[in-house]
Amino acid sequence: MRFESVKSDVTVIGGGLSGVCAAVAAARNGKTVALVQNRPMLGGNSSSEIRVWVVGATGHGVNRYARETGIMGEMFLKNQYVNPDGNPYLWDMVVLETVRNEANIQLFLNTDVHEIEADGPQSDRVIHSVTGWMMGSERKIRFESPVFLDCTGDGLVGFLAGAKYRIGREAHAEFLERWAPEEADDITLGSTLLFYTKEVDHPVTYIAPSFAKDITQTPIPIKRVLRSGDSGCHYWWIEWGGEIDTLHDNERIRDELWSVIYGIWDYIKNSGKFDAERMTLEWVGSIPGKREYRRFIGDYVLNQNDLEVQTVFDDCVTFGGWSIDLHQKEGMYAVDHLSMHFHSDGIFQIPYRSLYSTNVSNLLFAGRNISATHIAFGATRVMGTCATIGEAAGTAAALCVEHGVTPRVISESYQGASASLIMAGRFDYWSKA
Ligand SMILES: Cc1cc2nc3c(=O)[nH]c(=O)nc-3n(C[C@H](O)[C@H](O)[C@H](O)COP(=O)(O)OP(=O)(O)OC[C@H]3O[C@@H](n4cnc5c(N)ncnc54)[C@H](O)[C@@H]3O)c2cc1C
Repeated sequence: MRFESVKSDVTVIGGGLSGVCAAVAAARNGKTVALVQNRPMLGGNSSSEIRVWVVGATGHGVNRYARETGIMGEMFLKNQYVNPDGNPYLWDMVVLETVRNEANIQLFLNTDVHEIEADGPQSDRVIHSVTGWMMGSERKIRFESPVFLDCTGDGLVGFLAGAKYRIGREAHAEFLERWAPEEADDITLGSTLLFYTKEVDHPVTYIAPSFAKDITQTPIPIKRVLRSGDSGCHYWWIEWGGEIDTLHDNERIRDELWSVIYGIWDYIKNSGKFDAERMTLEWVGSIPGKREYRRFIGDYVLNQNDLEVQTVFDDCVTFGGWSIDLHQKEGMYAVDHLSMHFHSDGIFQIPYRSLYSTNVSNLLFAGRNISATHIAFGATRVMGTCATIGEAAGTAAALCVEHGVTPRVISESYQGASASLIMAGRFDYWSKA
C-alpha cells in the first residue's frame, strides 16, 4: 500500500455538480485544487450511475427566462452541442472534460474520504487534513489545505470535523414556516433507483427474480404504474426510506427499491396490460440516488419564508427557482399524492452565510447539505442550483486563500461587496473594493 500526501490551496470533497463547479471556480481564480470523489464518475446524482436529470431556476417552466449561467451554463451548452440525445455516458464526459480542462485541478476519482484531522473547541474547530482511500489502487492519500469544501451531499467531512448540522424537519416554532410540523422529527425525503427500458426487434420474455414483489399486493396504486407506462424515466416516484435512516440503511433501501423495480417490470411484461412484448430492461440503477441527509448549520439558515417572500439578501451569491418540492414520507407506498409543490413568484436568493459552517472556521459547503431548513432545501436541492452554489462557494474559498482569511471574515469584513465579488469571481474588482 502506498501512502501519499497532497498539498493544495483548496480541497473539495465530493464530485457531484456542486463539487465540480466549486473546484472549477477555485481553479479559475488561480488556486490549486484537489477534487476528491469516491465514485469512478463525476456528476453525483446526474452521473450515468444514477441518471437524475439536471433542473434549476427555470422551475417547471414557470420561470421561463431564468437559467443557470456560469460553469453550469457552460456544461448545459456543451451538452446540447455534443449530446443532443441526452446520452448519460456523454454527459459524464462533458462533466469530466470540464474538470480535466483546468490545469489547476488534481482529480482523484475512486477516492473515499473517511478520516479527518481537526482540532479546536466545539465552537471554533479547524480542519487540517482529510484522508481518503483510492479503490483499486491501494493508495491512501492525505489532503492538506487551508480551506475545505464539503460537497459530499451526505456531509461526512463536516460531520467528522464536528460541524453543527441538522437531519429531518424543523418544528414550526423554530422558523415559523407554514409547512413545518408542530414537532421536529427526523423524516427526510427517500432515495430512488431509476431504470431504463428499450424496444428491440424480437420478443423478449421476462422471468422475475424471486425477490421481486407482486406489485398488485403492495400499497402502490396500479393506476400510478399504468400512468407511468413502460418507460423507466417516469418512475422517479420509486422512492423509499424517508421514515428510516437514508444513510445507514442505504443497503436495505436499495434492496427494497430493486424488489419493486423488478416487480413493476414483471407487471409491465407479464400482466397483459401493456404492449411490451418487445420491451426489455436496458439498465437498472444500483446506487440509490440520495435526496436528503445532513444539512449543515451556517451563519444563516435559509427557510421557507425567505423563498415565499423572496428575501433580498445583501450577501446573495446565487439563486434558485425550483418549487419547494417535498414528498410523502412513505415514498412509493403513499396511496394518495406523492409530492407537494410551492412556487415562489419568480426566483429566490441564496445568501453566502448559508455556505459556510458556523463552528468549523475553514469549512465551506455546497449542494444539498447547505444551511437551509428541510422545507427550503426542498427547492435548493436541484442540481442546477447546487451547481451555482458550488461556483459561489469555490470562488469564496479562493478569496479566503488569496487573503488568508476564513469564510466568515469574507462575509463580515466585506459585506455586500463579498457577494458581488463571489458572484463575479473577479479579483481585479476585489482589489478596488
Ligand atoms: C431520484 C432523485 C430525483 C431527483 N430529481 C431531481 C431532478 O429532476 N433534477 C435535479 O436537478 N435534481 C433532482 N434531485 C436532487 C439532486 O439530485 C440532489 O439534490 C443533488 O444531486 C445534490 O447535489 P450534491 O452535489 O450536493 O450531491 P450529489 O449529487 O449526491 O454528489 C455528491 C458526490 O459526493 C460523493 N461523495 C460522498 N461522500 C464522499 C466521500 N466521503 N468521499 C468522496 N466523495 C464522496 C458521492 O459519491 C457523490 O458523487 C433528485 C434526487 C434524487 C435522488
